Amino acid sequence: MISTNIEKAVTLLNENEVVAIPTETVYGLAANAYNEDAVKKIFEIKKRPLFNPLIVHIKSASTINEVAKDIPEIAYKLIDAFWPGPLTLILNKQAHISDVVTAGKQTVAIRMPNHPIALDLLQKLDFPLAAPSANPFSTISPTSAAHVAHYFNEELSLILDGGECQKGLESTIVGFENNEAVLYRYGAISTEEIEKIIGSIKIKNNNEHQPDAPGMLSKHYSPKTETYLTNNVEQLIKSFPNKKIGVLTYKNKIANNNICYQEILSHNEDLNEAAQNLYASLHRLDCKNLDLIITERLPENGLGITINDRLQRAISKN
Ligand code: AMP
Ligand code: MG
Repeated sequence: MISTNIEKAVTLLNENEVVAIPTETVYGLAANAYNEDAVKKIFEIKKRPLFNPLIVHIKSASTINEVAKDIPEIAYKLIDAFWPGPLTLILNKQAHISDVVTAGKQTVAIRMPNHPIALDLLQKLDFPLAAPSANPFSTISPTSAAHVAHYFNEELSLILDGGECQKGLESTIVGFENNEAVLYRYGAISTEEIEKIIGSIKIKNNNEHQPDAPGMLSKHYSPKTETYLTNNVEQLIKSFPNKKIGVLTYKNKIANNNICYQEILSHNEDLNEAAQNLYASLHRLDCKNLDLIITERLPENGLGITINDRLQRAISKN
C-alpha cells in the first residue's frame, strides 16, 4: 500500500519487515541492517543474488563508526563535501555487520541519504537501514512510489511515498585501494564534482570488476522491450520498417511517421533534468507495447556519462 505514514514504517521496520522508502536517488527496499532475517527478506523480495551486497543507510555522518572502521582521511573529505547525498563509500566493516549485508565481504557500502522522509525515518530508528533499489533484479529502477507498486504491490505492506526522486540515478560508489579513492560505479554525483574535492580519481566502472560492485553487472536497469542505443536515432529508425518504435532522446523531438511514442529527457538540455526523468521515461516507454525502443546517447560529460552507462546496461543482453 502506498502511504505517507512514517509511524507505520517505523513499526514495520522495528518488527524486522521490509518497507519501500523514498531517497533522493531511487526508491529503496529497506530493512533493519542489524537483523539478518530482515535483510534476507530484501533478497527474497527482490530476487537478488546473494553475492550482491547492499548499501547501509545511516542517519548522520557521526554514526559512521557504528558500521565502518579504519576510515581514511580522504573519505572524510568526501563526506564533508557530499553527505547527506548520493555518494556511497566502501569501507572496512565493523565485526557485527552481517555477511548477508556485505555478501561476505570485509567491506560495507554506506551512505547518508538526502531526503527529508528517509532522514526523518532513520532518526526514529535505533538501527541503520540496508536498502538496495526497490525493483526486481536487473529491471528499471523506481523513481516514484507508483513504480514500486507496479513491481511489488503484493509483496510489500508499505510503500512510503516521498514524491518523485530528485536525482533519479543511483548513488556514485567510491572505495579505497591503498588509501587512494577508486570510483566503482558512475552515479548521481559526476566524476568532475568528485575530482574537484580530491583530485583525479581512478575509474573501475566496468565489468571486469563485477564482484566488487554488482551494480556494474552488464545487464541492469533493463526494460522488457528490446532496446537500442545510438548516436543517430533517425538513421537507426530506417533499419526497422513496419515496427512499432518508441524513442528516447536527450533534447530534440524527432519527426518521423514510424515513431509511435517519444520521450524527451530535457528540452532545456539540462543533464540534471535528464537524469531525473530517465527511469520514469523508460518505464513509460516499456508500458506502451512497442516492438522496440531506440535511445539516444547523451553528451559524454558530467551526468551524461552516468546516463550513458545506464542506457548501455539497459540494452545489454547478458
Ligand atoms: P543497489 O542499491 O541496487 O544499486 O545496489 C547496491 C550496490 O552497492 C551494489 O550493486 C554494489 O555495486 C555496491 N556495493 C555494496 N556493497 C559493496 C561492497 N562491500 N563493495 C563493493 N560494492 C558494494
Ligand atoms: Mg539496483
